[in-house]
Amino acid sequence: MKIISDITELHDYILALKKSGSTISFVPTMGALHKGHLSLVDIARENSDKVIASIFVNPAQFAAGEDFAKYPRDAERDIAMFRQAGVSVVYMPETDLMYPEGFATAISVGKIGKILEGIPRPHFFDGVALVVNKLFNIVMPDFAVFGEKDYQQLVIVKQLVRDFNIPVKIIGGAIIREDDGLAMSSRNIYLNDHERSIAPFLYKTLLNVREKIIKGDKILQSIDWGRDELLNKGFDKIDYLELRDSITLAETGVLENSRLLAAVRLGSTRLLDNLKVI
Ligand code: AMP
Repeated sequence: MKIISDITELHDYILALKKSGSTISFVPTMGALHKGHLSLVDIARENSDKVIASIFVNPAQFAAGEDFAKYPRDAERDIAMFRQAGVSVVYMPETDLMYPEGFATAISVGKIGKILEGIPRPHFFDGVALVVNKLFNIVMPDFAVFGEKDYQQLVIVKQLVRDFNIPVKIIGGAIIREDDGLAMSSRNIYLNDHERSIAPFLYKTLLNVREKIIKGDKILQSIDWGRDELLNKGFDKIDYLELRDSITLAETGVLENSRLLAAVRLGSTRLLDNLKVI
């Protein structure tokens, strides 16, 4: 497995691969790997000859006061995990290589970036789209795999690819969970023991709300029940718990192609989860 931080070196390697007829799948990450990330590598391997993964903690998607400085970083462990998973190249650029002095161009993803996750962080998805666009231009993959864990991000990356005619096929990977149902996340290590015991109730509540909706209970009432349940279980704040169209993320009262999406706060940690309804 190669570890590359230089763009020219990566381009040379990739162009040689393409010349030999190999297809490439790309798995972008911010490191602090867990089984969720590795499941994306598995999907990537199944879809192409070579897998390129990246580790880049993107400053453009952290607002002032967010956890950019303390975001968990352990390059050696991540490299060992990617090697074990069958990755061919790990691309690890320095920040000033991605954003050199004079860097000026921005991307706006529009309305879809201002709902749900975009309410507390209005520039977050513009930052995601910017770095994803740059990474696609650098890696030139045939496929790129993103987790459903960050469902709004997956929808926005599909929009970016469509709007900019980027020749890459986006594949979504299912959420990988701990045995008790908690969606794996690099930020779960911020939870103390008490918070960790509460955290699985987010997924359990989503399952219960889905069950209620499917058996015919009113959607708004079921969601209100879910909100009360989350607060009773000990979550500190619910940023949102909503039923949305799974393609447009618009509010919906129709169960087909819908998804429950939630973001809650537990102490100083924000947990995200989502669930396909039908
Ligand atoms: P991150 O390193 O948090 O930026 O995540 C990199 C990629 O891994 C994104 O596409 C995430 O959606 C995906 N991911 C994170 N957690 C999970 C999980 N529990 N299951 C599946 N994919 C995940």
